[in-house]
Amino acid sequence: MTAVRRVVIAGGGTAGWLAAAMLTKQLGGMVDVVLVESEEIGTVGVGESTIPTVRAFHDIIGVDERDFVRATGASFKLGISFEGWSRPDERYIHSFGTIGRSTWMADFHHFWLEARANGQADEIGRYCVEHEAAREGRFAGGDSGLNYAFHFDAARYARYLRERCEADGLTRVEGKIARVERDGEGGDIAALVMEDGTRIAGDFFLDCTGFRALLIGDALGVGYEDWRQWLPTDRAIAVQTTATGPAVPYTRAIAHDAGWQWRIPLQHRLGNGIVYASDYLSDDAAQARLLESVTGETLIEPRVIRFRTGRRVRAWERNCVALSLAGGFVEPLESTSIHLIMIALTRLLQLFPFDGVSAAAAARFNDMAQREIEGVRDFIILHYTLNQRDEPFWQRMRDMPLPDSLAERIALFRESAQAFQASDELFTVTSWVQVMLGQKLAPRAHNRVARMMPAGRLQQTLGQLAANVTGAVRGLPMHQAYLDRV
Ligand code: FAD
Repeated sequence: MTAVRRVVIAGGGTAGWLAAAMLTKQLGGMVDVVLVESEEIGTVGVGESTIPTVRAFHDIIGVDERDFVRATGASFKLGISFEGWSRPDERYIHSFGTIGRSTWMADFHHFWLEARANGQADEIGRYCVEHEAAREGRFAGGDSGLNYAFHFDAARYARYLRERCEADGLTRVEGKIARVERDGEGGDIAALVMEDGTRIAGDFFLDCTGFRALLIGDALGVGYEDWRQWLPTDRAIAVQTTATGPAVPYTRAIAHDAGWQWRIPLQHRLGNGIVYASDYLSDDAAQARLLESVTGETLIEPRVIRFRTGRRVRAWERNCVALSLAGGFVEPLESTSIHLIMIALTRLLQLFPFDGVSAAAAARFNDMAQREIEGVRDFIILHYTLNQRDEPFWQRMRDMPLPDSLAERIALFRESAQAFQASDELFTVTSWVQVMLGQKLAPRAHNRVARMMPAGRLQQTLGQLAANVTGAVRGLPMHQAYLDRV
């Protein structure tokens, strides 16, 4: 087993620079880090909406929030507004907050369902501060207690991380990787060979080359499990436009007849994109639809991005770990890819092969990565399959056979309103419940513990919770005013 003293990161997109930031910050002095990227090839150029776990990761790599918000044109995010997902005229917000108050015996939504059946409850979002703040366009950080994430400019983010890493001693090599050299005996990766013949040797390699997957796919031949039968969207077109109004503190996900569109507000512009299934919508029609719907002036030429939903069968193979697009991709509906990079890096450091790669550590890493991305996959499919729209694409999504894990979860909620968060699963009970109810999955029954409350007490408790939420939200500034201040 070769002790790992030198790590080579192939690729300088969000995955590559986050890896570089983590390794230089946490292992600087113990391992040398080299990053190779090609400006000519460039990055995927999207990936600008995140979830709250980003803040914990920023703490680990020492990012100061104000500094980061200024440098990357970031805005704040309290959730996602799903528009037209159950029916064309319906909308709900999946917020990052907790809703109401749960007990050990039953989650809050059981009490809410009981009160709702008696005509004594408001919409469920009324019992959640983040939900109501998002709905009213309000936000405050600091000690407001809100659970939030960011929208940021991906190009500026990579630049920001690069400056920090180079200041911390990272070596960056510019140029194209021509081939990957493997060790004749063991088969591990020995070096990246650049187009100009330079050889970049290392003990351990991170494949951050995006959809190209030069190391894990091309060189090591690790297969890809295709999930298109459940998630047939396979293309996106992205375009940036000037901002035309105050930034809202949420991402918008607006359904159309063969997929959905995103709208991500930053300080200086909007990120817009359309995700679609090419079996149902042509590139030209998708582009026309996107350009018709954007507001403001377009700042870049729209670009088609092709993708294949699925996962690399093993993200850690030999002395190589694949991160993000090289390791698998589930479409960006719930902004999970950057989170998956961060959690993979956290786990890699916990299992770091200082004394050489161990098959057991790699197996553990792969096992957790699989469960995590499958949980994300099921959550994304949930949004699509619980729909009541008429178009052929949406009918197909409603009628398709589901992964067993998801079919069982939906049946459980439908029968008894029970929801759960499995181990190594990202999404909480609150998230599952918000989307299931938002997509109009009506449970036939719920936990009757709420009936044990004395008459009037349930209504009074819910009334108090809603009043607390209203009071908390009223005290928050408008998101744009807060942004202008920070
Ligand atoms: P890339 O950005 O493609 O970077 C690849 C790097 O490898 C580049 O530096 C490139 O130059 C280099 N490279 C490749 N080949 C060579 C070579 N031969 N020689 C040298 N260098 C090479 N995630 C979220 O969390 N939230 C979102 O809202 C979100 N939206 C998305 C929307 C779409 C349409 C897509 C496709 C993805 C989205 N993602 C989102 C995912 C997110 O974009 C990625 O997780 C993130 O950008 C990381 O990409 P990457 O670094 O793996 O790849």
